[in-house]
Amino acid sequence: MELIAAEIVSFFIVAGILFEHRRSQKGSIHSREDTITPVGFSYLFYLVVSIITHLSMRGYLYLVPWFSMGITLTHMLAIPTYILFWMRAIERRLLPKQRVRILERVQFGMLGLAAIATFSDLAFHRLFIFSEAGRHIEGSGLLYLNYLSGLFILIQVIALFYRWHRIPSYIRMLFLFSSLFLLLSLVFFEWFRQPYLLGLSSTFMLLLSYLVWQRRELSLDLLTRIPNYTAYIEHLKHVVLTHQKTTILMLDIENFRLINSRYGNSHGDIFLQRFAAKLSAFNTQGPAYRLFGNRFALILRRQSHNGVVRIVQAIRAITSEGFVIDGAHITCHVNIAIVETPLKTNTLEEIVDSLDFTMAEIKERRRLPVIIFNQKLVPLRQRKLDILSVLRRAVVQESMVKVFYQPIIATKDNRIVAAEALMRIEDERLGMISPGEFIPAAEMAGLISPLTEIMVRKVCSLLTRYAKQVALISHISINISAEDLHSTDFSRRILDVIEHSGADARKISFEVTESILLTPSDSVEKNWKAITDKGIRFLLDDFGTGYSNLETLVSKPFDIVKLDRSVVSNATNRYELLALITGMLTHLKKGMVAEGVETAEQLEVVKQVGIQFVQGYYFSRPVPEEQFLSWLSGTMFIIPQA
Ligand code: C2E
Ligand code: CA
Ligand code: CA
Repeated sequence: MELIAAEIVSFFIVAGILFEHRRSQKGSIHSREDTITPVGFSYLFYLVVSIITHLSMRGYLYLVPWFSMGITLTHMLAIPTYILFWMRAIERRLLPKQRVRILERVQFGMLGLAAIATFSDLAFHRLFIFSEAGRHIEGSGLLYLNYLSGLFILIQVIALFYRWHRIPSYIRMLFLFSSLFLLLSLVFFEWFRQPYLLGLSSTFMLLLSYLVWQRRELSLDLLTRIPNYTAYIEHLKHVVLTHQKTTILMLDIENFRLINSRYGNSHGDIFLQRFAAKLSAFNTQGPAYRLFGNRFALILRRQSHNGVVRIVQAIRAITSEGFVIDGAHITCHVNIAIVETPLKTNTLEEIVDSLDFTMAEIKERRRLPVIIFNQKLVPLRQRKLDILSVLRRAVVQESMVKVFYQPIIATKDNRIVAAEALMRIEDERLGMISPGEFIPAAEMAGLISPLTEIMVRKVCSLLTRYAKQVALISHISINISAEDLHSTDFSRRILDVIEHSGADARKISFEVTESILLTPSDSVEKNWKAITDKGIRFLLDDFGTGYSNLETLVSKPFDIVKLDRSVVSNATNRYELLALITGMLTHLKKGMVAEGVETAEQLEVVKQVGIQFVQGYYFSRPVPEEQFLSWLSGTMFIIPQA
């Protein structure tokens, strides 16, 4: 009776697990690896026939003899069937697909033969001997069925050892325990004819694998249902531990923000789901990971150069083909950072840092959407890391930040009319670092705001200390970055600094590039208004480079536009372009500064098209404060450098 009670309890537990599992599993892309469903159902089947058999054996249930015999045989067959499903589900995760397929055929063949032999024995009574009333008395059949079950388990144990290093340790333990338990239960059953242990271990194992499954669910990304960052890091740890040779690809959908703002977030979400599904389907070697937002990763066996090229092309094909979502055809552009392991020190941090570094390189260089991290990049990374640490120090140790001033000169009389403040950072080991090198790093590391603040403070200090000299020029301009203008408290912080210094705000202007204004936002508008209300002007910097957009010119009240060096230096052979641009700007009544004037010839062209102000090496490079001040106190005329 206890046996029947235990079986009924097991039945409810297993049915409960199965129900909950089926519910939580809806939509999971891991259904291929689902071990719970087939095992659970075959175990339920086993329990049902066991309960009926045991009820009839104890006389609680009357069954006609032939039916009782049939149920008993089904019950006995249910043991190897259940074990086969359990082991098969495990083998699928351990062995390559093809081997599993062959094994499956052999194992199902054996089970089929056992079934035929079992039921045909109803006529021969050799393997299973029944009483008149249809009760099983003896016979070697059950032993053979147990042997068969044992064989299924052994095959799995071999597969387990064969793949020992490739499976995570907690799954390894689960597999090993389940095989041992089941094997032990069979032996126990053979000796004592009591299926307690079998029932107990089965329920227990099922519960355990359910928990393992739940753990897997925790490592799934909620939106795309592919493994998430946690799973990715787990995988990388394993790669490091086993010194695996892999090729890791980190993908970044570049224009994803644009997709979201143009088609709405729900379309963006669907886009990510489809992309994730395509990426997973494409990668036959394992899962694709979603690290966060628009970032994905693949961890592959080490690829040859051609292999990498093929994979990159395949990913390109997916993105350029795009997806049709609610009638909108959406394509995207991906950047791919590639790292090959093992790297030098073979640590997790090294892999993660190298991938991040490579992706940052891609973003910085643009036009180069795929970069493979290799030894050549190591010194470059070191330099960037050094610069980053210098920057971190510079924001607290302001004396490291130097301001250089480059005069802006009126073409009509070569007088200094204004200046641009340009940042330099001085470090005792690295020397003077130029902004071309550290500004992108500072922007990336979120250090630009404190640096801008320092620049403003230093310029203000000059304005107050040398008010008399500065009174002779119209303004000193300071470059600001996108992050500055987009941050909500930029104007408050900067205006505080200016007010605190007592400098005349109207002597300051800010240079911004069009790209900053490309993504409109409330904070930009607010900052803009608060700053211009104080009489500070904005100048449009780098006009004529990639982003040029006439709308910015018309919609934002810039008085002065700075023509980029590329426009000026090309002007000697592409005069028409410069003439066209200046003609338009003159028509819009904008003041113009030609940047990067290096030769007398360029100066001549610039004058011809009617540009009033110039800035460039022809007159002066950016110089330290003292030099700049000496010019201001002197004649204010600059003798062109030879
Ligand atoms: P930019 O705003 O376009 O500044 C002009 C750059 O052109 C300066 O480089 C200047 O030295 C250089 N230049 C001036 N005349 C000539 C010339 O005749 N020939 C050549 N080849 N170059 C000339 P610099 O100082 O290295 O700054 C580079 C960029 O770094 C700046 O470009 C600006 O975008 C950024 N930057 C500099 N200081 C700051 C700063 O304080 N804050 C921010 N956010 N960015 C800064
Ligand atoms: Ca500038
Ligand atoms: Ca410029």
